[in-house]
Amino acid sequence: MSKVKSVRQWLELIKKENYLIEINKKVNLRYELSAVGKKADGKYALQFNNTFFDDKEFKIPVITNLLNTRQLIAKALDVSIEDVLKYFSYAQLNPIEPRIIDKKNAPVKEIINLNLNLYDLPIPIHHEKDGGRYITAGILVAKNPRTQVRNISIHRLQVLDKNKLGILILPRHLFHFFDIAEKENKPLEIAIVIGVDPILLLASQALAPLDFDEFGIASRLYDEPLELVKAETVDIEVPSQAEIILEGAILPGVREFEGPFGEYPKYYGPRSLKPVIELKAITMRSNPIYHTIIPATKEHLLLGAIPREANILQLVKNSVPNTVSVCLSEGGVCRYHAIISIDKKNEGEPKNAIFAALSSSHEIKHVIVVDKDVDIFNAEEVEWAIATRCQASKDIFIVPNALGNKLDPSSANGISDKMGIDATIPLVDGNSGKYEKIKIPGEEEISLEDYF
Ligand code: MN
Repeated sequence: MSKVKSVRQWLELIKKENYLIEINKKVNLRYELSAVGKKADGKYALQFNNTFFDDKEFKIPVITNLLNTRQLIAKALDVSIEDVLKYFSYAQLNPIEPRIIDKKNAPVKEIINLNLNLYDLPIPIHHEKDGGRYITAGILVAKNPRTQVRNISIHRLQVLDKNKLGILILPRHLFHFFDIAEKENKPLEIAIVIGVDPILLLASQALAPLDFDEFGIASRLYDEPLELVKAETVDIEVPSQAEIILEGAILPGVREFEGPFGEYPKYYGPRSLKPVIELKAITMRSNPIYHTIIPATKEHLLLGAIPREANILQLVKNSVPNTVSVCLSEGGVCRYHAIISIDKKNEGEPKNAIFAALSSSHEIKHVIVVDKDVDIFNAEEVEWAIATRCQASKDIFIVPNALGNKLDPSSANGISDKMGIDATIPLVDGNSGKYEKIKIPGEEEISLEDYF
């Protein structure tokens, strides 16, 4: 199969498999769209063809839940579920330079409008206490003002006016760029890309180093250079196959209130003064599709999980080479709980694996290590391993007062305890028979249909 290279191709593919449901009923962008999407979470992707906000109706279709299972992510990458992390790591280590094409061949230039109005886009309010309408699936492209190397990242963007967005910038690459620009009292030019395929969404979440163009990772995942096209009003290149591009700049010395916003841990991120984007232009396809990611759904969580898992797997393997796989579980909001399976050869390895995982990111709070016979993507199996292969006094340890995640409400403004749980079988007991799993001969071969 050749890789999907636009969100349209992706919709076609999942429609064929009856995963995409089209909804023609009129749906309110205030909460209703989010509520329907949430009900379908993990079951269906949705396309809303008729939406409204107050008395304004929209004909631009809204899509959500595009890739909300691990199976779908594997399908988008065209690899088996087992190979997803390995493949993502490979792409990170072997980027391909994207290619700039002429704008006459770029569908995203079919409409160019220098007089944009954000209220013409079907932008929803997702959660009850959200501060307003939010763009949640916009990939922001910017360049390092010092090196001109591109960076892409997704940020929550609150609509403040018809050409103005409030933006949350966590202290990563974009934060650094804006800091440089703002100190020179210069705007930081940006473009926001809406409506892209799963590969580009995943690549945008890669934990790449500074001055590493994530479009190069996407290109490797496509097996060919991603096609970019120059923006109209800013010195930024954007994906030619996208649905909608917003062009503008983050203004120096300007802060306005943004938030609250229902975030991935299923609590609200606070309202506070944030930087502001002023938009100058919109370009789009002649019949664009608008993508929204409903916060805290599987689409949101898994998009962040895959690149993080790939990163943790790499780091833990450096310490414990016989590490098999890593899962950031959905119960742990795909950020706080790392479950690691190892093919244990030496006593003590689980603790080293725990140290490596905890040090990989401030977000990791609890790490559970299990033997390779446990399916780490199955929460019931993981709990079973903790229930039957762990004694708290020797297998659990706690590190108090490390740096955690501020969005975890149980942390003290980000200061958080860390916990490691070794739920592996002691090597001395390995062959004693104590841990022999019960087995029914023939169970695996049986197909229920033959008996019903
Ligand atoms: Mn980056």
